[in-house]
Amino acid sequence: MAACIFCRIVAGEIPSSKLYEDQDVLAFMDINPINPGHSLVIPKKHFESLLDASPAEVAKVAAKLPELARAVKAATGADGVNVFQANGAVAGQTVPHLHFHIIPRHKAEGFTFGWRQQKYAPGEMQKMHERILGALQG
Ligand code: 5GP
Ligand code: ZN
Repeated sequence: MAACIFCRIVAGEIPSSKLYEDQDVLAFMDINPINPGHSLVIPKKHFESLLDASPAEVAKVAAKLPELARAVKAATGADGVNVFQANGAVAGQTVPHLHFHIIPRHKAEGFTFGWRQQKYAPGEMQKMHERILGALQG
């Protein structure tokens, strides 16, 4: 028996309200939604997060996002949709099996992600730019 809760959902050991399934991808309703209709899309293969996932598996999951997001928006009458994805506990990830959230959003719903926007100190962005470019080459 797999320890991972989403692997157990894939295996059918835990029931889920499935929205889409193929050989590689599963979409199902989130049991604790930000708004009704909040859904999750996962690769069937276990990856802890995007950071250790294979690009091919991510591509299969990502390919289903437009259709699923459109369906969630249509079914909920939402005004917009967030696709959200967390990697690591510090980033808010609570289930360590790669997943994408599809969250219907409504005008005047009273929910906010609490986005914070900071300013770079002079020269700081250029330094960070170089570091990330270096990491990409690394
Ligand atoms: P995270 O916080 O890792 O980005 O998202 C995990 C999501 O999985 C949460 O929104 C949570 O409500 C959902 N979740 C956790 N356990 C289960 C479960 O057993 N079934 C379903 N359908 N969703 C779950
Ligand atoms: Zn898993």
